[in-house]
Amino acid sequence: MKTFTYERATTPAEAAAAAARTPGSKFLAGGTNLLDLMKLEIEAPQHIIDIGKVGLDKIEPTPAGGLRIGALVPNTDLAAHTTVRRDYGLLARAILAGASGQLRNKATTAGNLLQRTRCPYFYDTNQACNKRVPGSGCAAIAGFSRQLAVIGTSNACIATYPGDMAVAMQALDATVETVKPSGTKRSIPLAQFYRLPGQTPHIETSLETNELITAVTLPPPVGGVHIYHKVRDRASYAFALVSVGAIIQKDGTGRVAVGGIAPRPWRVEAAEKLLPSGAKAFTAQLLNGARPTSENKFKLALVEATLESVLHQARH
Ligand code: SF4
Repeated sequence: MKTFTYERATTPAEAAAAAARTPGSKFLAGGTNLLDLMKLEIEAPQHIIDIGKVGLDKIEPTPAGGLRIGALVPNTDLAAHTTVRRDYGLLARAILAGASGQLRNKATTAGNLLQRTRCPYFYDTNQACNKRVPGSGCAAIAGFSRQLAVIGTSNACIATYPGDMAVAMQALDATVETVKPSGTKRSIPLAQFYRLPGQTPHIETSLETNELITAVTLPPPVGGVHIYHKVRDRASYAFALVSVGAIIQKDGTGRVAVGGIAPRPWRVEAAEKLLPSGAKAFTAQLLNGARPTSENKFKLALVEATLESVLHQARH
């Protein structure tokens, strides 16, 4: 690991301002992804700003009837929260489908959103990777791509976004709240938070430099059956080949976000309109424009089969 300097911030605005003062800064919360990346020298921050003591650890009702989740709320606490379990079951189930108990104890809400891809070539510093070293190429496109994305990709990167929690939050219409070094706050709908790779796969979100996530807000709860169905190579501690986060109503309408297939949680509202017609019609619209590789084209059928299973669960 390369050497770095360290400071501990006491407020979110102070953390953002400190980052702006020191080039090459990174915020440290749970550290479950960042520290691994630093040990591999994929991330090499010159300065660490520990935000573990800035507050941001509350789950509170909003005046609109929704929920405000502090950026530092541990995943375990969020999944176990009474209101989340009762009103946002999809979110609790998605969180519990991810990582391990120990990791969920340390991982935070904001850190979970910002976790990096698990493309194997991203982690192998002997391989070309535009996301790790812009302009160096992409070893995955002609390489081992079974886990990688089938839609939303570019000729520069075909990595998937790996998380589960964000898939649920996408279906729940979550909004990310931030503070900039100037102290200015803003709200970013999760649907606009993740960027597609294009020619700049190293830029993964719409966050500006040194902008700090302070919370995620959820709108008032949506009734219906909440299901998170994750298909993976082993029963726990594995990333999704395909995951479906769904809220299905009695009349067959609903919301569906899909993970494991794209550089961000993939939700297409035009496809949701086709839900009452069944999984086949929905999937054809959802995956319109997909460009799978020979190794991951099985995901197209897997999305349809997973959704079929979800719709079956919702009916029974
Ligand atoms: Fe890197 Fe993306 Fe290519 Fe993977 S798919 S090697 S992350 S550029």
